[in-house]
Amino acid sequence: MHPPSLPNRSIEAYATVTGDDRLERLRELAETLSDVRILHVNSTATGGGVAELLRSIVPVCNDLGIDTDWLVMDADDDFFEVTKAVHNGLQGSGEPLTDEMKATYREVTERNAAEIEDEYDLVLAHDPQPLGMLERLEERLPDAPILWRCHVDLTDSVDDYLAFVSEYTDPIDHAIFSRSEYVAIDTPATSIVYPSIDPVTEKNRSLEDEELAAERDRLDPLSFDAPVVTQVSRFDPWKDQFGTLEAYRTATEEVPELQLALAGGMAGDDPEGLELYEQVAEKAVGDPDVHVLTDLPDTTINALQRLSDVVVQKSLREGFGLVVSEALWKRTPVVGSTVGGIPLQVEDGRNGYLVDPDDATGAGDRIVALLENDERRRSFGDSAREHVRERFLLPRQLVDLLEIFVDAVEPDS
Ligand code: UDP
Repeated sequence: MHPPSLPNRSIEAYATVTGDDRLERLRELAETLSDVRILHVNSTATGGGVAELLRSIVPVCNDLGIDTDWLVMDADDDFFEVTKAVHNGLQGSGEPLTDEMKATYREVTERNAAEIEDEYDLVLAHDPQPLGMLERLEERLPDAPILWRCHVDLTDSVDDYLAFVSEYTDPIDHAIFSRSEYVAIDTPATSIVYPSIDPVTEKNRSLEDEELAAERDRLDPLSFDAPVVTQVSRFDPWKDQFGTLEAYRTATEEVPELQLALAGGMAGDDPEGLELYEQVAEKAVGDPDVHVLTDLPDTTINALQRLSDVVVQKSLREGFGLVVSEALWKRTPVVGSTVGGIPLQVEDGRNGYLVDPDDATGAGDRIVALLENDERRRSFGDSAREHVRERFLLPRQLVDLLEIFVDAVEPDS
């Protein structure tokens, strides 16, 4: 296990984007938790939504006076091949789960659990990767409530995979899901907490005109003098970059000068990424208006989401989809599919449009409807920002989480 390096964060930084009441409530909850030492465990320090969330939550909690650690599992590709298969199986597709895969999972999770030597009063494990550590942690820390946060869509899981993870869920005292529809595992207590974006990070902070100009140059040959539609996602079959390409091609029938940016990265715990990236890049070869961009720095992702005319998220499954709130916060309307957390964020006809996940043509038509109407894009953009401000910024999520922590450590209060 290793602690990732983290930025400093001050709770004061959020005063400009969220109400005083919320910050006051956070301070109150933090006071109650001032003697509680908390451990977060997950399997990657970079890439993907969970790492993104923890990079903000952990330093802000420390700033609030809650002693909080984050440890990332040490594992190699064999383990991540298994956990990616588990992730895919839980989301509804997948290869058979073999005894060898189960043994790899058990061996790596047990080894990581044995490395935790400090004392903690509450443990929060994220996603299925660290579940195998929980039994050992429960023995080591008998008084610490064990919480599990599932960021995965469990609405249509393959039975074998659900049964496999269920073998490890006994130690969980309280499970947290991103939508009520995902509650497929029985635990003594359950809560729903929507994820959130952090408005003060490099990814989401406002950018000065000169910074935007510099990022425009960096993104060249993508040109913002012509319309741009963008999807930002890990290269992962569930993100459906091929469907986005199809939607884009439909839209170019009406808007021939349209460009598409497919920005993506490979999460540290996702071995499928490179292969998919190569397939997507191959599909884009020969089309100078399709730009497949990898490993962009956060400031560039920020500028890209801001400067694009429309953002698309054509996922086939999606736990929540932080990228949707990221774009909406920057006043960019989103065309998204009706899966996972996307419909919580996209209000059809108010801040973007929703389409069926298999309806690439419909997505293309919606992109055109936005491109052809500047006024609609502007008014959708204004609604988008307020929708995210109220529901999907970090302080709201922290209040939800800290209330659960207080309840877990003081169940009778
Ligand atoms: N992301 C990024 N660069 C990329 C692709 C993704 O920084 O090239 C970030 C993205 O901005 C978002 C997170 O990774 O913050 C993805 O979170 P989301 O919930 O959308 O999807 P997940 O990857 O967790 O399935």
